[in-house]
Amino acid sequence: MATTIEIEDMITVGTLADRLMIPVTQLIGELMKNGVMATVNERIDFDTAQIIVGELELDTELVRRVAEEAKPRAKREHGKSAVSRPPVVAVMGHVDHGKTSLLDAIRKADVAKGEAGGITQHIAAYQIQHGERYITLLDTPGHEAFAALREHGARLTDVVILVVAADDGVKPQTIEAIRFARKAGVKIIIAINKIDKPDADPNRVKKELAEQDVLVEEWGGDAVVLNVSAKTGEGLKELLDMVFLVADVEDLKAEQNMPAEGLIIEAHMEQGRGPTAVALVEVGKLRAGDFVVTGPTYARVRNLETTSGAKLKEALPSTPVLITGFKSLPEFGDTFVVVKTEKEARNLASQGAQNRQESGARAGSNSNELMRLISRSKELTELNIVLKADVQGSLTSVLDSLKSLDTTEVAIRIVAAGVGAVNENDLHLAHSSNAIIYGFNVTTPSGVKQHANRDHISLRLYKVIYELIDDAKQELTKLLAPEVIETPIGRLVVKGIFKSTKTELICGGEVTKGKLVYPSRARVTRGGKELSEVDVTNLKKGPQDAKEVFEGEMCGMSLKTPTRVDVQVDDHVELFSRETVARTL
Ligand code: GDP
Repeated sequence: MATTIEIEDMITVGTLADRLMIPVTQLIGELMKNGVMATVNERIDFDTAQIIVGELELDTELVRRVAEEAKPRAKREHGKSAVSRPPVVAVMGHVDHGKTSLLDAIRKADVAKGEAGGITQHIAAYQIQHGERYITLLDTPGHEAFAALREHGARLTDVVILVVAADDGVKPQTIEAIRFARKAGVKIIIAINKIDKPDADPNRVKKELAEQDVLVEEWGGDAVVLNVSAKTGEGLKELLDMVFLVADVEDLKAEQNMPAEGLIIEAHMEQGRGPTAVALVEVGKLRAGDFVVTGPTYARVRNLETTSGAKLKEALPSTPVLITGFKSLPEFGDTFVVVKTEKEARNLASQGAQNRQESGARAGSNSNELMRLISRSKELTELNIVLKADVQGSLTSVLDSLKSLDTTEVAIRIVAAGVGAVNENDLHLAHSSNAIIYGFNVTTPSGVKQHANRDHISLRLYKVIYELIDDAKQELTKLLAPEVIETPIGRLVVKGIFKSTKTELICGGEVTKGKLVYPSRARVTRGGKELSEVDVTNLKKGPQDAKEVFEGEMCGMSLKTPTRVDVQVDDHVELFSRETVARTL
């Protein structure tokens, strides 16, 4: 049995050789043979390592080490001076079960109380007041975003409100959300929504939840369940009360007397304002005038404001804020830190840029090599895609989900990806690379649509991530070579040869298996080895033509051959049928 070795996503050549217990020179040699130039201290990614180990024929199997799950934020270390912070809540659930409506209803109730701004557009995160306290609500673009954030190691959410429609029950994305929340160690509150509907059946929902090992309190479990209606407002107050109750068990605290640190949870280009980000402060205080550095970019916070546009003097932990003035677009899921001076900010950002370039160059060149490798050995077929999305968060989510569709035979190649409406440039790119343009939650000027039509460029717009992914999956499936299925029909053992030319062979013999029919494909074999593939064009029993000849019977057979086949007595003619079947991913 093959030995199994666990490795990380990226591993240095030296460490991999150690783990495989082979000389590092052997590993470097094998990498070179495959066009990957890497020295002992350089890192290669998991997929490259897996291919190389396969080529080394070591009888060793590599498995990817699953990154340790992010601990819930509440468990973050904090000292004595830490103070309570609002819970960070994400709303998840199956499409159409009412996530948006529920968030709107909660926000509307709050807006009605006179908060600045209004419900005008999608906002990645915002705070609402409930009683004397605050709740931070995340409006993530979907489950994929949650997954992407978790992959970035984000300890973002304290509580998940899982919305399940009372008239529809537990559905695939409900189950997925339960899985995510459990993995991330996040508390779940189940909101059975649409309770106002005549066919609402909360008991059925509870039964279906029990099948997913989520047992409600009234049935002896510990899952918190509430009946709500985003339409009538029923149960919303209780839901928010419950958020505090659940969060208080976690004793959510954070240090305040330090420069702020946190996460970028959305980034986009805003007209007239340039690169803009929504950042969630995790610890410390963020103040106007601070320098915020994230990855390769930084910004001076001139005006500190909430995501609804209200001015703030300072932002405390769990507060989402809008930051403008970045030098380039920050990346969704990246952490940010605050430094005192512009010089420090500039230095740190350029260090960030360098780190990114190095790991990018390495990972990039290696994955390019890998692509080349696979395409050489297995004729990888690619589906070219130009992707546009409304915000950086959804762009990352869609990209992550698309990546997961790749197999060793077919893969998605992102020709270009960006935030914003589909434009002429995207059409150019798609045209020259024969790509499909996917737009997620974006608009397309009618002129661009017309051009796409005129030039026969496939432009597809989606509002639901998994529908977009399904479509890409279908396109990818079309690229899969069909499976060829052969079914044996019968066998003739040759007893005599009557005619043998370049194109025709007439022989006779006994049917020893199955039956013979014509027309059909056949192989002439000797000792199990194929001599030629031929077509059966006629069968005769005695002087008579025969449509079929069965096991135990003698017959004559005419074959059409591609070249002269040197048939001998005792060779076999094996008849078979061949079908091609479309495959699925
Ligand atoms: P999402 O895809 O989970 O964000 O779902 P939406 O919030 O877009 O809701 C899907 C549909 O269900 C919309 O037509 C809503 O008007 C409707 N809906 C949402 N909540 C309720 C509710 O509590 N009662 C009723 N009757 N309809 C609702």
